[in-house]
Amino acid sequence: MSLIADTLLAYLPPKRKHTPSGWISFNAPCCVHNGNNADKRQRGGFIVNQDKAVSYHCFNCGFKASWQPGRTMSPKLKNLMRWFNVPDDIITKCTFDALRLKEDAELGLKQEIIPTFTERALPMGAKLIDGCTSKDIVPVLEYLHSRDLYLEDYPFYWTSKTGFKNRLIIPFLYKGQIVGWTARSVNGQNPKYISEQQPGYVFNLDNQHWDRKFVIVVEGPFDAIAVDGVAVLGSEVSQGQHLMINQLQREVIVVPDRDEAGEKLVDQAIELGWGVSMPEWPSGVKDVSDAVNKLGKPATLWLIISSRLKTELKIRLHQKNWFRTEE
Ligand SMILES: [Zn+2]
Repeated sequence: MSLIADTLLAYLPPKRKHTPSGWISFNAPCCVHNGNNADKRQRGGFIVNQDKAVSYHCFNCGFKASWQPGRTMSPKLKNLMRWFNVPDDIITKCTFDALRLKEDAELGLKQEIIPTFTERALPMGAKLIDGCTSKDIVPVLEYLHSRDLYLEDYPFYWTSKTGFKNRLIIPFLYKGQIVGWTARSVNGQNPKYISEQQPGYVFNLDNQHWDRKFVIVVEGPFDAIAVDGVAVLGSEVSQGQHLMINQLQREVIVVPDRDEAGEKLVDQAIELGWGVSMPEWPSGVKDVSDAVNKLGKPATLWLIISSRLKTELKIRLHQKNWFRTEE
């Protein structure tokens, strides 16, 4: 797997001792090159770690050298190889091998963190609700009405097909393309949501207009629609979602749900350096879409923005009461 670890192991000086923790000790060859007397008490230690990272430490002259996959070879490590009598052409091969691994690691990292999305089909028979005339659509319309959602708020879909009937279908859009969806039950039928979501997807990014100073991050799609924010579609922010949201280059304000999962989201927001808003909602309001129903959008946005907290200390202080307040 790693030429560097294998080479060092093959050229270690003779008279070696192995410790249970994996270190190999031998007479250190470094000391005479660093102005010290030659080591005769096996004070040179070498170890290969599980990921093929290597470490060398001399307890006689204090010389250290190490390498790990993803790094280039240091001049110190090349010196150590020479003192181990590794031939120059093998040292050169090791240098190139380290470079190759470094390039692989960087490429892998890029692919991992910038999510890309491909087009996805909506559930069978899905139609835009706007313009639909079927009588079967009534429960879905009633649900929209109960949440004060309007057909002009978002391109909501619906289908009469078994399995998806009595569900409100919310397409996941990205750059105008449908890249997933969630179908919310409107009559209490389980599961509450049936979804098709690609890793790293953040809901409602398409509606983050350039003139906004803030981006409001919530858990669910309805809250996001209510305040033109984005939703992470759960209470955890994945690495890809973190990147997608930071790419907007706005001040991030997380508005958690008032439950256990919401508390986890607060922890993550602190870790990511994002702000958190835990507004004193009027009584009877338990989340962002409730607040919009009761107060309207401008007042809700004002409450969210004026209640935002940026330091861990302030967030922690506020969190204690906010999550324990009964409705
Ligand atoms: Zn030494």
